[in-house]
Amino acid sequence: MTPTRFGAVGVSKFHRLKASGRPAWGFFVGGNLMIFYCPNCWNELLDGQQLCVRCHQEVSSWDEKTFEAKLLQSLSHPEPMTQMRAVYLLGERKATQAVGALAELFRRTSNPFLKSEVVEAVAKIGGDSAFSLLIEALQDPSFIVRGEVVNALTKFPERGAVEGALERALKDPSFYVRETAKQTLEGLRSMSE
Ligand SMILES: [Zn+2]
Repeated sequence: MTPTRFGAVGVSKFHRLKASGRPAWGFFVGGNLMIFYCPNCWNELLDGQQLCVRCHQEVSSWDEKTFEAKLLQSLSHPEPMTQMRAVYLLGERKATQAVGALAELFRRTSNPFLKSEVVEAVAKIGGDSAFSLLIEALQDPSFIVRGEVVNALTKFPERGAVEGALERALKDPSFYVRETAKQTLEGLRSMSE
């Protein structure tokens, strides 16, 4: 078994799955294997399939606007993997109007992987509300989430509050978070020199 940077098996599985996702409805899962999902029911589609065998929707019938609404709806899906896909895609699409819903999801879930995915997504989207959520998330009970926040803060180098937040993270109870904060701070400082 390969050790991961968190030393946990569950985490490595998660990273493999979310790692290099692609826009639209496809996801890379390791190597070059790509999985496509029906945007209506999230059933897995076979390669090149244009009609979903489960819900009989034509994949091409989904326009961008419907798709984004569907993604927002999927944030309340009972399956965490479906929620994660939706979060990921909203981040990739830089869906500014999704930040509020993403923040709500962050607050109501206790799943640290889902929370981390939200952190990453809002960091991609950017803006004031996204930034406030990151500062809030720095107090999360899970070190996985706090570590993700520290990484995500590098997307906001122009904010004065970032340095202070990272300095506080240097005193985090988790070694992983402290180390990540240290490296991130060094990186930020060398950038501004
Ligand atoms: Zn379907």
